[in-house]
Amino acid sequence: MEKSAKKPVVMSGIRPTGILHLGSYFGALQNYIRMQDEYECYFMVADLHSLTTHPDTKSLRANVLHVISEHLACGLDPDKVALYCQSAIHETSELYFYLNTLAYKGELEKTTTFKDKARLQPQNINAALLTYPSLMAADILLHRALYVPVGKDQEQHLEMARNFATRFNHRYGEIFPGPLAFNFGAALVKVPALDGSGKMSKSENQNATLYLSDDDALIRKKVMKAKTDEGPKVPGTPMPDYIENLFHLLQLVSTTEVYEKFVTDYNQCSIRYGDLKKQLAENMVQFIAPIREKAIVIRNNESYMQEVMEKGAAKAGESAKKTMQLVRDAIGVKYF
Ligand code: ADP
Repeated sequence: MEKSAKKPVVMSGIRPTGILHLGSYFGALQNYIRMQDEYECYFMVADLHSLTTHPDTKSLRANVLHVISEHLACGLDPDKVALYCQSAIHETSELYFYLNTLAYKGELEKTTTFKDKARLQPQNINAALLTYPSLMAADILLHRALYVPVGKDQEQHLEMARNFATRFNHRYGEIFPGPLAFNFGAALVKVPALDGSGKMSKSENQNATLYLSDDDALIRKKVMKAKTDEGPKVPGTPMPDYIENLFHLLQLVSTTEVYEKFVTDYNQCSIRYGDLKKQLAENMVQFIAPIREKAIVIRNNESYMQEVMEKGAAKAGESAKKTMQLVRDAIGVKYF
């Protein structure tokens, strides 16, 4: 690795399979924004990845623009980071191929997300779905990134990316750092769904997911519908998952005082979940509304959007070209 004062390289991506939500923000975007000053950052909208599960491309353009506008609205500065679309960087497919020669069918088939997705779309278990971890590794290794800010759901993919990097280095020579999941030393985040089952997500569980473009009334409606019960009757009763989730959400958007007040109420068996949900709904509205409004203004400025995406692709393309020179030399697919 270089010894210069070069900033450590960071890479991450979000699929345009829908629009962004609270999980995208706290699992990924929040860290992107915190990292943009001190790291060399590559953040992409993973449109190729989305084709493995969403082959119908009718809403692809709208989703890509929506997701990019939300990255910007959350505070990402396109002059500091490379914000680009995966399909604009053709070198990705070349590296993906090389990494596929190092990825084994057995380990790919064992990946949790592959098994989940194969269950959800039994009629379309395509080869790219199986090799998703190789493509994700290509996205990261293309910039020789060291840190990858992601949510907890991506931990296993990252481990595979590290394995592929190690195998490549072992076979062809030291080119890639082993990429690490990153969350400023804290545990990786999982933002739970409002119905107590699974995580918030772009494409599944839409009534239990709070989107960054939900209007105020919809936010309130979704939060008020969250599952609760009669509350604890005996001090020391452990919290059921669905209640713990609500506290977790409260911790993300409310003040410490508010959070602690409800924890005390719970411990004293005097909690009123109606009040907790009202408070949570108001704090969610306060958090989401400014992002939503800003994203609309940004999205409506198409020439600005185009400028941002072209600038991002140029920066990412430059870094990809450099890496691929090293990769081709190392493999030996360069004859003169
Ligand atoms: P989705 O599951 O919504 O389709 P992606 O697979 O595109 O999201 O993931 C984009 C980023 O957002 C990844 O870093 C992922 O870890 C993070 N992320 C997505 N959902 C959540 C969640 N509910 N909690 C924490 N992080 C999440």
